[in-house]
Amino acid sequence: MIASEAAPFAKTGGLADVLAGLPRALGRLGHQVTVFVPRYRGAPAGEPVAEFAVSLSGRTLAARFDRHPVADGVGAVLVDCPALYDREGLYGIGNEDYPDNAFRFAFLAKASLEFAGRMFERVDVVHAHDWQAGLAPVYLKKQFAQHPVLGGVPTVLTIHNLAYQGLFPADVLPTLDLAWDLFSVDALEFWGKISFLKAGVNFSTVLTTVSPGYAKEIQTHEYGFGFDGIVRRRSADLVGILNGIDVDEWNPMSDAALPAPFGPNKLAGKRLAKKQVLQSFGMATDQAGMKRPLVGLVSRLVDQKGFDLLSSVLPDLLQQHAGYVLLGNGDPNYEQEWAAAARSHPEQVGARIGFDEPLAHLIEAGADIFLMPSRFEPCGLNQMYSLRYGTVPVVRATGGLDDTVENYRPRSGAGTGFKFKACTGPALLRALGCALQVYQDPVRWQAIQRAGMRLDHSWDASARKYVKVYRRGVVRAAVGARAARA
Ligand code: ADP
Repeated sequence: MIASEAAPFAKTGGLADVLAGLPRALGRLGHQVTVFVPRYRGAPAGEPVAEFAVSLSGRTLAARFDRHPVADGVGAVLVDCPALYDREGLYGIGNEDYPDNAFRFAFLAKASLEFAGRMFERVDVVHAHDWQAGLAPVYLKKQFAQHPVLGGVPTVLTIHNLAYQGLFPADVLPTLDLAWDLFSVDALEFWGKISFLKAGVNFSTVLTTVSPGYAKEIQTHEYGFGFDGIVRRRSADLVGILNGIDVDEWNPMSDAALPAPFGPNKLAGKRLAKKQVLQSFGMATDQAGMKRPLVGLVSRLVDQKGFDLLSSVLPDLLQQHAGYVLLGNGDPNYEQEWAAAARSHPEQVGARIGFDEPLAHLIEAGADIFLMPSRFEPCGLNQMYSLRYGTVPVVRATGGLDDTVENYRPRSGAGTGFKFKACTGPALLRALGCALQVYQDPVRWQAIQRAGMRLDHSWDASARKYVKVYRRGVVRAAVGARAARA
């Protein structure tokens, strides 16, 4: 696997968690996986296992390869090239990307493949993640086709978020060891630029994305970010597989961030978590405070997560008989808006602007309802944590949210949460209103909580689906090779 992030070596978001959870689950199934990531500033040096020069269009840089054992059959190799990776940020500083990101991630792909070609006896599949690894399938085809280890190896590209497309001016092409014939609409060209993601989509054997729902959505104009046509052309080779969650880290029976353990048959501990959340936000914990439904939000504060929808109905939210606790950072406008709401309604709203993992766990456990009104959501992790913590999700029916939350049906009492389809403030309010109403009926509410808590979103099931995809890639590559010989 090749990626720009993998926990615990480098993390800015959910991608890093996938690159930690999936390889381990594959290892448990008996497979051998090596994850290649850059060695960014602060990442620990591992055992140096190789050192050689890597060239891209005549620019040659020395790379060292540090191996870290991860689990049975699983290791990480950190590509150490200080000139490219020993910097303040992973991708840039603030909102400013590093000007040489095309070269930095092309180098990652090339160096990883060269390492595999030299050090491994056999490679069955190369799995590239997101645009940063998008050139790996191109290099494999163009530069390693005759290689004894890497020749003909199938490639899988996983799209974690189609909004990030790795767009660069066309004139970087010759600096990346790529010929101008690749500057075409069937290859890398995208409206006069080149796109690393398009390279990955067009050159990989099989494509995946992180939920079945998102796999469908990215083929539509509404969710395609201009890529819908490109993805549609490969529709037959695209599979949606839900991300798993780390069920050891997110386990209400053993979570060190909680005051008491709880589970589906032992919900009392959840009340203690609610009390602690209210206390930590300076909100009342008397009988009335504990009885009032508490809505939690843990999120990047950005439009993707529906914070503009929330803004449009904030006064209405405050009219509800509910308290709100928010943890997040991101867009300064939303940070200020929520901080101001907490100042003007201290009894009803708590806001912590920042990144705080223990508090994220406590909110997931202590809230009654988790609100996630995303405009689009490739998979989403927080709603899966909520389900496991008996915190009933209220979500927009999109992508992975739609796939993981089952809408409550009043007649049968079945369902695990509340969903709304239209991307509007009133639709959000209606869904939240339904949840608040059902909350008043403890028997029904606990049935919803327990149904969510019993779901299994561990990585093992998803890893089996990836294995199927890998096998499909292997078969496809073999058929392709036979056809080429004939
Ligand atoms: P995305 O990757 O798009 O941000 P996900 O729901 O897939 O959204 O994953 C977000 C992850 O980051 C979750 O594990 C969530 O708990 C965590 N997270 C987001 N914001 C914060 C925060 N301010 N403090 C702590 N954890 C956060």
